[in-house]
Amino acid sequence: MTDDKIPFLDLITPHIELEDELVSVFRSALRSGGFIGGAMVEEFEEEFARYCGTKHCVGVGSGTDALRFALIAAGIKEGDRVITVPNTFIATTEAITQAGARVDFVDIDPETYNMDVNKLDDYLKKTSAFGPCMPRAVIPVHLYGQISDMDSIIEVAEKYGLVVIEDACQAHGAEYLSQTENRWKKAGSIGKAAAFSFYPGKNLGACGEGGAVTTNDERIAQKVRMLRDHGQEKKYLHRMEGYNGRLDAIQAGILKRKLAELPKWSEKRRRNACLYNELLGDVEDVVTPCEPRWVRSVYHLYVIRTHRRDELRDYLSARQVSTGLHYPIPLHLQEAYSSLGYTKGDFSVSEKVAGEILSLPMYPELTGDQQRQVVERIKEWQSSVRHRTSGV
Ligand SMILES: *Cc1c(COP(=O)(O)O)cnc(C)c1O
Repeated sequence: MTDDKIPFLDLITPHIELEDELVSVFRSALRSGGFIGGAMVEEFEEEFARYCGTKHCVGVGSGTDALRFALIAAGIKEGDRVITVPNTFIATTEAITQAGARVDFVDIDPETYNMDVNKLDDYLKKTSAFGPCMPRAVIPVHLYGQISDMDSIIEVAEKYGLVVIEDACQAHGAEYLSQTENRWKKAGSIGKAAAFSFYPGKNLGACGEGGAVTTNDERIAQKVRMLRDHGQEKKYLHRMEGYNGRLDAIQAGILKRKLAELPKWSEKRRRNACLYNELLGDVEDVVTPCEPRWVRSVYHLYVIRTHRRDELRDYLSARQVSTGLHYPIPLHLQEAYSSLGYTKGDFSVSEKVAGEILSLPMYPELTGDQQRQVVERIKEWQSSVRHRTSGV
């Protein structure tokens, strides 16, 4: 077994494998002069909609654009409240604020790390006293590639008249067994609309920035098309102000080519997760991810939990194993949100989990040998802790 560095993710190998085809995307854009919009964008939108099982896909500039546009198109405006979880990337809450709304948090489930539906229900029960300031939307975040408990979230949302917007930025191709429809549904096809990010490190990544909104709602799709393009319905006809938030043609062409590989890549991620689960199964003080039987995660991240997380992370880092933290500080404790008035202890599950999570290297190209190396290092670390704490 070699002791080469094990990177946290690999953005080189998949692009080398497709290099000639990706370069030809660039070449055809150069030769046609079509850089913004056009056939390459439309073809990708069609294929991604088909892949997700939705009627529409609208390519936009980033996942953050996708979230912001989906909220605005769904009718969220100044003075509304939008609920999400504290353990997500700040883009989720930035989009809420930028749509003019106030961020409301509810805590997560300690096993799946996704929104705790009972807490959502409890919270809404209390805020029904709020009258005109009722929350108007909820954004479940399909964290680490695993879909939230959407049947239950939709049931609660309908009870209180909330729009459900999925943050599917980490969950391209993840599946959810809908009890109400008795079939597997893909991330992005379950809520009123969904946001995807094609940031390079995501499961489907561009060679630059990109994002998309998926929806079955023609009206929302149409509004997102206007929002991404300065509010234009057609050239120089502005019925409202919008944004500069388009997906460019080269990125769309690249994404279309990479989308063909995505099912295979997702399978490899799932296979790698299985092997990690097996290898880590008997390791003391390591909690492996929980995948309920009603989801098929695409393991954007493989996240374990352990006490003394920071020491383990340093130990691995010193031995050429890169890891990540997603995310170390829950959003309600970030300075950016101090004005919301939350304090430590408000979301105890998110806070506890934030101190224990550790994301191990995870990507389709990761080999079994590399995974064994990672787990060997973790075992070494645990036995050194046992030694120290038993006073040997
Ligand atoms: C990456 C990500 C986003 C933002 O996507 P960008 O393309 O970087 O704007 C939003 N939410 C989650 C959960 C993400 O992981």
